[in-house]
Amino acid sequence: MKLILLGAPGAGKGTVAKLLTNIDGSVQISTGDILRGAVTAGTELGKEAEGYMKRGDLVPDTLIMGIMETRLQEPDCEKGFLLDGFPRTIPQAEELTALLERLDITLDMAVEIDVPKDIILDRLCTRRTCENPECQAIYNVKSNPPKVEGICDKCGAKAIQREDETEEAISHRLATYNEKTAPLIGFYKDAGLLMSVPAVSSDAVIDAVKGKLNI
Ligand code: AMP
Repeated sequence: MKLILLGAPGAGKGTVAKLLTNIDGSVQISTGDILRGAVTAGTELGKEAEGYMKRGDLVPDTLIMGIMETRLQEPDCEKGFLLDGFPRTIPQAEELTALLERLDITLDMAVEIDVPKDIILDRLCTRRTCENPECQAIYNVKSNPPKVEGICDKCGAKAIQREDETEEAISHRLATYNEKTAPLIGFYKDAGLLMSVPAVSSDAVIDAVKGKLNI
C-alpha cells in the first residue's frame, strides 16, 4: 500500500504505520525518525536540522525534499510505503505530487487520523521514545510503559522523553501543525485522496484502512 498518514503530533501516525507494515511489507518512512537519527549520528543533515527540531519548528522544505527524493527510490519502497510525518506543508505536498509523477508511483490515499486535542496533549506529555536511532520504539508511561522503567523492551537502550516533548515545545508544535500542516487535509480532499478516521485507537484506523483498500 502507498499511503500518507496525516494528523497532529501524537495522533498515532507512527504506531499506525508500524502496525500497517505487518500487513503487506510496506515500509514506514518517518521523516522525524530519519532526522533524529541524523542528529544522533552528527551528520551535516543532523547539524542543520537540530535547532529547528528542538524548538518544535519545521525543518526547511528543501532539506526534507532531498531526503524523500532519495528515500522513495530505495528498493524496499517497491512493496509500498507509509509516509509518517511527511508532507508537512503545502509546498512539500505539491513537490511530492510532482516527484511521484516523475517516479510513476500512484498513491492509494491520504489517511487523516483525527484525535481530540486533549487526548493529543496528554499523549505527548506522557510519551517516551527509544533513543536508539535504529529502534525508536514508542511507549507511554500511563498506557504502555516499558517493562523496566526507562529501558526499551525491544533493544535495551534508554526510553526517553524527547527534547521537543517539553510542554513549551509541544504547544509550539501543535500551533505549527494547525498553521502549516492542517491545510493538507483540504489539499488531499480536493485531490480525491482523503480518508478521515475519527479515532482514539490505532486498531480503528487499521480496520478503516483495510476496509477501504479491501485487504
Ligand atoms: P515528528 O517525529 O514527525 O514529530 O518530527 C519531529 C520534528 O522533525 C518536527 O517537529 C520537525 O522539526 C521535524 N520534521 C519531521 N518531519 C518534517 C517535515 N516533513 N517537514 C519539516 N520538518 C519535519
